[in-house]
Amino acid sequence: MSAKQPDYDVIAIGAGFAGLAVIHYIREAGLSVKVFDRASDIGGTWTWNRYPGAATDSESFYYCLTFSKEILQEWQWSQRYAGWEETLRYMHFVADKCDMWPHIQLDTDIVSADYQEDSGWWQLIDGSGATHTSKYFVSAMGMISQPVMPNITGSNQFSGPCFHSSRWPQEGLDYAGKRVGIIGCGATTVQMMPAMAETAANVTVFQRTPNFVMPAVQKPITDEWEAKIKGDYQTIIDKCRNHVFGMSFDSPVGRNISDTDPEEVQRILEEHYPRGSFSFVFETFDDLLGDANSNEVISEFLRSKIQEKVNDPEVAELLMPKGYPLFAKRPPLDHGFYEAFNRDNVHLVDIKDREPIKEITETGIRTTENDYEFDIIVLATGFQAYTGALEALDIRGKNGLLLRDKWHAVSGSIMGVFVAEFPNMFMITGPQAPFANLPTSIEQNVMYITDCIKKMESEAYDLCLPQQSAEDEWVAHTAEIHAQTLMAQGDKVNSWMMGANLENKKPRVLIYFGGANVYYDKLRESVDTGFPEVQFEKLAG
Ligand code: NAP
Repeated sequence: MSAKQPDYDVIAIGAGFAGLAVIHYIREAGLSVKVFDRASDIGGTWTWNRYPGAATDSESFYYCLTFSKEILQEWQWSQRYAGWEETLRYMHFVADKCDMWPHIQLDTDIVSADYQEDSGWWQLIDGSGATHTSKYFVSAMGMISQPVMPNITGSNQFSGPCFHSSRWPQEGLDYAGKRVGIIGCGATTVQMMPAMAETAANVTVFQRTPNFVMPAVQKPITDEWEAKIKGDYQTIIDKCRNHVFGMSFDSPVGRNISDTDPEEVQRILEEHYPRGSFSFVFETFDDLLGDANSNEVISEFLRSKIQEKVNDPEVAELLMPKGYPLFAKRPPLDHGFYEAFNRDNVHLVDIKDREPIKEITETGIRTTENDYEFDIIVLATGFQAYTGALEALDIRGKNGLLLRDKWHAVSGSIMGVFVAEFPNMFMITGPQAPFANLPTSIEQNVMYITDCIKKMESEAYDLCLPQQSAEDEWVAHTAEIHAQTLMAQGDKVNSWMMGANLENKKPRVLIYFGGANVYYDKLRESVDTGFPEVQFEKLAG
C-alpha cells in the first residue's frame, strides 16, 4: 500500500438522515469522514421538498435517529407527523449537538466517483473540478431523491413558475390568490393540494391513476404523550427494529381477514380507521399483503370511505382506485385530501380516460378537451426510486464499469449495500433493500457498513470485494419474494416501487419484501459470520 493517504477514510454523498448517521457512526469508529451535498443546507428530502403540507408519514417520534439517548430525550416533537420545517429543525439540532458541521461540505455537486485500481481508493470530482479521495465511498443520496420529469411538450413555454415538486423554490413561493395546476396525484399531491387550496385562488389536480389514501389523523404531542414516549423510548426503538416495515407497531396481530367473520372484519376496520397512520394496515389483519381476497376487502372498505367523504359522486368515482390491490402502489396518508375536493376552488381532471394532457402552453395546460389557465404549475410526477440518484452521476468501479451500465437490465445488489465490481463502495438503502421507515433502515445500514469498515481497519485490509455469487443469490432471493406479494402487481399501475414509473426502463425488482426485521437480522448475521458476501484483500507492496 502506498504511504500516501487519501483525503478521508470515508466520503459520503448526501447530508440527509443517512449522511448524519454516517458522520456519527464513522467518527465513533475513530475514522475521518466527509459528507458532500449539492444543496445549500443539510436535510436531504426535507430541504428539497419544501412544498406546502410536506410532512412525514411515519410518526415523528420514530422518524428520527436513535444513536443519542440524550437527543431523544431533549428534542420535543410538536405533532404526531412533523412538517418539513420541524424535521429540518430537528436535523439541525442533531448536527449542532453532535458537532457535525466540520464534516459537512454543502453546495458541492459531486459529478463523478471513480474507483482507483492502483490505490484501491475512490476519487470524487465535484462541479468545480476539485478532487476528493477516500478509502471508502458511501452513497447516502436517498432512495426517493432523483425526480422524474414528465415527458410533456412545452413545459419551458409556460410563462409562470413550472417546477418539480421536489425542487420547490428554496426562498418560498407566494401562491395566495393564484391559479395552481398540479400534474400527478401521488403522496406529494395528497399532502400539497389541501394545504395550497386554503389560500390559492384555485387548485386543479391532473390525475392519471388514483391511489388508496388512508387517514393520517394529525394531532399535537401532548405533555402526557411525550412523557410516555420518553419514559420508554427503548421499547419504541425495539418495535421499529422488529417490525416488517421498521415502524413502531404491534404486528403481526395474529389475525387474518380470511378466517374472521365478515361483520367482525368491518367492525375492526371501522374501529382502526379513525385512529390514523399505517396502523390501519399493520394492526388490523396480517394477510393484507399476501392474500388477494383479503386485500380486496380492505380495498373496498377504503373505496367506501371515499364515497362517504367526497360530495360529488362523479369526483368520488374518479378518485377510487380500481384494478389493482392496496399496496401495489405506495399508499399515502392524508390530511384532508378527499374533503378538499368538496371545496369550490378544487378541481379534478381525469387525464387517463377523459382528457389526456396534450401540452403545456404559455398560459397553462392543454388537454384533448380543454385549455386550463394557471399562474403556477407543479410537476408532482414522482421519483426514479432507489437507483436514480446513483445513476445520475458517473460512478465507475473495476475496469471503468459504469454503475448505470451494470444496472441496465437488473438493478442488482447484495442486501442493497454492496455491488459486485464496486470495491469499497457502500449504499445506504440501495436497490433491493427493504422499503421501511427510513431512519430505522438508515441506521441499521450505517451500523452494518461501519462494522464492515471496522473489520477492514482492524485487520489491515485494503479492499472489500463484493462477490458476484452473493449478488446473484440476493437478486434471485429478492425476486422470488417479490413475486409472492401483491406488490408485484405494481407494474400494472406505474408503481415507483418497481421502477414501473420510468418510461425508458422496464419494471424491475427494487425492493426486498421479506420484512425489514428479517433483513436487519440478515445484516447482523453477516457481521457475526465475518461478511461472507465479500472478499477482503490486502494490496501488495
Ligand atoms: P408518485 O407517488 O410516484 O406519484 C407521481 C404522480 O405523477 C402519479 O400520480 C403519476 O401518475 C403522475 N405522473 C407521472 N408522470 C406523469 C406524466 N407524464 N403525466 C401525468 N401524470 C404523471 O410520486 P410522489 O407523489 O412524489 O411520491 C413518491 C413517493 O415519495 C411516495 O410514494 C412516498 O414514498 C414518498 N413521499 C413520502 C411522503 C411522506 O412520507 N410524507 C410525502 C411525499 C412523497 P401514475 O400513477 O398514473 O403514474
